[in-house]
Amino acid sequence: MTDKPLFGTVAFIGIGLIGSSLARVIRRDGLANRIVACARSDATLEKAMELGLADHVTKDLQEAASGADLIVLCTPIGTCGAIAETIAPVLKPGQIVTDVGSVKQAVIAAVLPHMPEGVAFVPGHPVAGTENSGPESGFDTLFEGRRFIMTPPDGSDEEAVEKVAELWRRAGSTVDRMSAEHHDWVLALTSHLPTLIAFNIVGTVDDLESSTKQEVIKYSASGFRDMTRLAAQDPDMWRDVFLNNREAMLEMLQRFSEDLSRLQRAIRWGEADALEDLIRRSRDIRRNVIDAGQA
Ligand code: NAP
Repeated sequence: MTDKPLFGTVAFIGIGLIGSSLARVIRRDGLANRIVACARSDATLEKAMELGLADHVTKDLQEAASGADLIVLCTPIGTCGAIAETIAPVLKPGQIVTDVGSVKQAVIAAVLPHMPEGVAFVPGHPVAGTENSGPESGFDTLFEGRRFIMTPPDGSDEEAVEKVAELWRRAGSTVDRMSAEHHDWVLALTSHLPTLIAFNIVGTVDDLESSTKQEVIKYSASGFRDMTRLAAQDPDMWRDVFLNNREAMLEMLQRFSEDLSRLQRAIRWGEADALEDLIRRSRDIRRNVIDAGQA
């Protein structure tokens, strides 16, 4: 236990990888007096209880949100608007609603209009994760040394923003603040585009005739293995990310296709310098990632 808890009751709507990891931090450090977990399935709720992640579990969104000091939306982003609409009638001034969605503009547009007067919505995104889902896949060090990006709209309740920031600092993250629009552009490039490319490469292999596919799997350590890790992520989550970060994704895909055509040309015409230059620049970027502690 550390000093005084930051919150009385914290309610998690969605208790998968991200929700359960944060719940573990809250439990470990005594950051709340009580944790409530809400999910769709009995199996998830039973698992959450078995793992000791919550004091109370329910499938009822309103029951979960009612009276909680902090409500954390940890479901696929496409569900956030309907969940906000459902819990809105039981929300009271002073409660804080936050989220962890990987896209911010779409979540703000879907959730904010439902927030009653006096209820703060603090949008956020922990830039941390694995390819696993569900309450059993979480761990309390997931956010350590990672970034938590907050995108509070203009005029947000600064006290609520600071409380949410403090929770993520206690989870070991560095808290950054930026506009939701900027977040969505940056993440389209650093996370959403690489993941889409991984799905695409793995899909290409899946379409190969079965003998060739077996060869690829057998020799996968030469690069394909890392792509499969990235491509093994939750379909609901990633469908929602691509569809809800549409503009930024389309822009990044346009740039990517142009660069890919340039590479195709370099290979066709034997432009060794162009290829070498790209490989060198890529190695520099890798070194920068390692230096920034993000490897
Ligand atoms: P997850 O492990 O698949 O967990 C999702 C949870 O949401 C489950 O408990 C699920 O319950 C629940 N859920 C889904 N739809 C619901 C609904 N309509 N009502 C109530 N509960 C519902 O997902 P996750 O990886 O934790 O991701 C959750 C959020 O975190 C997403 O918005 C994602 O963008 C964001 N995020 C993910 C990562 C990552 O690497 N995974 C990183 C940063 C941010 P059931 O099990 O009962 O279906």
